[in-house]
Amino acid sequence: MSAPRVQASPLNRLNANLEALGLDAVAPMVPDYVRLVADGERDLVSAMLDMTDAQLASKTRADDERRMRMANFPFVKTLADFDWAFQPSVPRGVVEELATLAFMERGDNVVLVGSPGVGKTHLAVSLGYEGVMAHRQVYFADCAGMVADLRSHDDKGTLARRWRFYEHCSLLIVDELGYLDIGKRGADLLFQLVNRRYRLKRSTIVTTNVGIGRWGEVLGDGVTASAIADRLCHHCTIIRITGRSYRLKDVGAAEMGVEEGAGE
Ligand code: ADP
Ligand code: MG
Repeated sequence: MSAPRVQASPLNRLNANLEALGLDAVAPMVPDYVRLVADGERDLVSAMLDMTDAQLASKTRADDERRMRMANFPFVKTLADFDWAFQPSVPRGVVEELATLAFMERGDNVVLVGSPGVGKTHLAVSLGYEGVMAHRQVYFADCAGMVADLRSHDDKGTLARRWRFYEHCSLLIVDELGYLDIGKRGADLLFQLVNRRYRLKRSTIVTTNVGIGRWGEVLGDGVTASAIADRLCHHCTIIRITGRSYRLKDVGAAEMGVEEGAGE
């Protein structure tokens, strides 16, 4: 003989529904709100509004966190963390205008040029962070690593699918162009990437320690280098940072080998 079916209480069934629907922020609020409504302290609509507001806030947080993970930032720094006084060659107004992300609406690019430690990656990550917070898909890649990834997909015959990944994100950050030798084939792949994003009007931020006119030297192929620069710089904000390395800011003049009284 089968056991008699016992109907779960409405509260238990509600909790089961909330769990099945993934409304995990609402579930713990229910007991309090049941009491508040029963006591006449809240009406049903405002109680439901509070609970759905909480669920929406939790979803927004989870979405932001997922996009942050996907963005693959090496560290998280924002413009609020940037010491403008230390690096006066950075045009603050220009960077703050970039942070409105209007450049992404237009599919424009940004190139940050400067020697090591001057804050190129920091600024690129800060702009990427603004993108993530504005619900955009952002992806940070170091140039040599990205090119190695493209090469390995090319070798495996899966490059077409990989292109879609690099084309898809609304902001791609290519960090450290010119630090490591990527070879002729790497330079070709980098050109294809830049060209694909150019055609789709998707923004790219490039950081580099090498002036654009010298990309031919570091990419080992002047024609490819100028084709890359041509696409990248067509609609582009170029920021040249000429100051000192922030990493060395606490190193005194003597340790740096500067003669006392030699001035700047
Ligand atoms: P780059 O990419 O130009 O080599 P980074 O952006 O990696 O330099 O900067 C090196 C370190 O110094 C990072 O931790 C960065 O956050 C910090 N940094 C650089 N410039 C500044 C600045 N003007 N204000 C605050 N922190 C800075
Ligand atoms: Mg860097």
